[in-house]
Amino acid sequence: MNVHLIVAHPNPDSFNYALHKTALATLKNCNLLVSESDLYKDNFDPVTSDKDTPNFPALEYYSVAKAQRWAQEHQGFEASIEREQAKLMACDLLILQFPLWWWSFPAILKGWIDRVLTAGFAYGQGATLAPKKVMYSLTTGGASNEQERAYYQAKIDGLYQDVFGFMGWQVLPPYIAHGVQKINDDARIELLDNYKQHLNCVLKQVSDT
Ligand code: FAD
Repeated sequence: MNVHLIVAHPNPDSFNYALHKTALATLKNCNLLVSESDLYKDNFDPVTSDKDTPNFPALEYYSVAKAQRWAQEHQGFEASIEREQAKLMACDLLILQFPLWWWSFPAILKGWIDRVLTAGFAYGQGATLAPKKVMYSLTTGGASNEQERAYYQAKIDGLYQDVFGFMGWQVLPPYIAHGVQKINDDARIELLDNYKQHLNCVLKQVSDT
């Protein structure tokens, strides 16, 4: 199995990176093929515009989905999109590592979704990318009781459904590390340990299906 990991955090010493490194080590330990996209390190540009499809005919009315479909048919995507799409084509499982910002993805990751999961490639009629499996690993500001946890869970289910569910991907149970800035090192180390176990369970679930 080939796993592609995306990490979206501006600080390489962050807890998100600690989770990302835990995933890399756990997956490599299982002898899986692993690739990664480090969106901040790669300076990934999240803004969709006509530069994504530089040779789209100038006389045509520019619509994003239309230009994306044109680029799909004419190998006309800008290089960073092409690279990211190639990594997606090659993987079976995609893992997204990110902090929850405004109940959603950080802008750099949202932009990756806008620019890489394009019409005619990832979704829509004749899409060439076969549906894959996806797992979110995320951190939050914190939930103080079961009711709040349920609220987070519902939000995250929505984030799954609105992107990968829409595209027909198999969504796997997320790993949610709550309140990582409010707890001590020992509790955070326990969360990293729990993440290893979560990944091992998910990998077992994937290999059983
Ligand atoms: P960090 O601050 O990077 O890390 C936490 C601690 O872990 C640090 O002390 C760090 O030193 C330590 N650490 C790093 N590596 C290790 C390790 N290996 N072992 C042990 N400790 C380690 N929260 C919500 O719940 N909902 C929201 O809608 C929301 N919106 C937000 C919007 C914005 C713009 C921002 C900035 C924050 C928002 N938050 C929200 C809070 C956000 O989700 C948290 O700040 C974030 O999840 C914390 O994760 P982090 O990786 O950035 O933590």
